Amino acid sequence: MVQRIVIENCSIATVDADDTEYADGHVVIAGDRIESLGAGRAPEGLTDVVRRIDATGHLVTPGLVNTHHHFYQWITRGLATDHNLFDWLVALYPTWARIDEQMVHAAAQGSLAMMARGGVTTAMDHHYVFPRGTGDLSGAIIGAARDMGVRFTLARGSMDRSEKDGGLPPDFAVETLDGALAATEATVREHHDASFGAMTQVAVAPCSPFSVSTELLREGAQLARRLGVRLHTHGSETVEEEKFCHELFGMGPTDYFESTGWLGEDVWMAHCVHMNDSDIDAFARTGTGVAHCPSSNARLAAGIARVPDMLAAGVPVGLGVDGTASNESGELHTELRNALLINRLGAHREAALTARQALRLGTHGGARVLGRAHEIGSLEPGKLADLVLWKLDTLAHASIADPVTALVLGAAAPVTASFVNGRQIVADGRLSLADEDAIARTTREEARRLAEIAARA
Ligand SMILES: [Zn+2]
Repeated sequence: MVQRIVIENCSIATVDADDTEYADGHVVIAGDRIESLGAGRAPEGLTDVVRRIDATGHLVTPGLVNTHHHFYQWITRGLATDHNLFDWLVALYPTWARIDEQMVHAAAQGSLAMMARGGVTTAMDHHYVFPRGTGDLSGAIIGAARDMGVRFTLARGSMDRSEKDGGLPPDFAVETLDGALAATEATVREHHDASFGAMTQVAVAPCSPFSVSTELLREGAQLARRLGVRLHTHGSETVEEEKFCHELFGMGPTDYFESTGWLGEDVWMAHCVHMNDSDIDAFARTGTGVAHCPSSNARLAAGIARVPDMLAAGVPVGLGVDGTASNESGELHTELRNALLINRLGAHREAALTARQALRLGTHGGARVLGRAHEIGSLEPGKLADLVLWKLDTLAHASIADPVTALVLGAAAPVTASFVNGRQIVADGRLSLADEDAIARTTREEARRLAEIAARA
């Protein structure tokens, strides 16, 4: 027996290919899939309906998809607040190098909880700090996502270019080339699920050109393609990175990535702020995706990514929170607004990014970037039932003319319900499967413990 949940009397933004919307409609969930949706009430005579939700005053959208994050940073928020990327990294690496499994698990819970209660149904974590002898960090992160019911991609990161090789991280924070590749392959083999509706996937994710050797990039790309998983890294984030690439490799970041096998439709990169026309063409030609992180780019004064130009060229673009050491809010729904506002900065840019384009970046765009647009990212029959009910009938939003505008440009909207695979993970703004207050206490304790260990080192 397939159990049905009927949601009625709501506005719906499907984010399908035609941007179909219903001012007053219904969605029927059957098991883990969307069975039907449309205008008006649900069809009569549905069997096995276990729940009917009167969603009056709500907008229903696909669940938000986060495409770039570093969960461990949840316990180092609010530090080095007035630094650019390189100074910020150098200030924080010594603390980050002291993390252990217990800290990483708590930080993952904090990061996931914050996103889930704000409408994220698919999360990712780019984790690249693996100090020796600190336990099973990948397992701890994946376990936290599983417990909270959030769909998840672990981008198994790595660093092997330390200060002695001209890189940025200190020696004690990096792995060896062979060690990083072997551990990444083991993580893929243990955790990656390639099936439709998978809750856990793994990507190969060396950290960045200035913290990773050319061999690790090249062999990482080969490993990912041999295993049939996706590739992720940071790219073209700052002017300093651009200068670094020209000095060390005699070319800009995008050409360097292309020379190491890092452009392709199985690749997505965070930031891509400093891209010229030929870089954008290369991304469009190869189908390489972008995780746009507007708040982090602003916080670190990295610059403004050319998202409207990327979209016009056909580059797949999703949104990213980025680590919460450079975006303390840890929310993705507010990135819809920030993406729109930041991409309009400048004269005559009033139509550079619309509210509907911003919603698309945070849903279908993200699904595409993660290689999952056939499963999630829009509300269509047969797709997985990952969807959010946003409450828009209270003081903050009730007088805003249009629900999508209310969601994107209004204050952060409360989530009445959020579903992943048809399973409810948020109810009335609170996590259904985890205790937020306990997570808040634990993360504060772990942040203190890390600060004390780092101060003693
Ligand atoms: Zn990042």
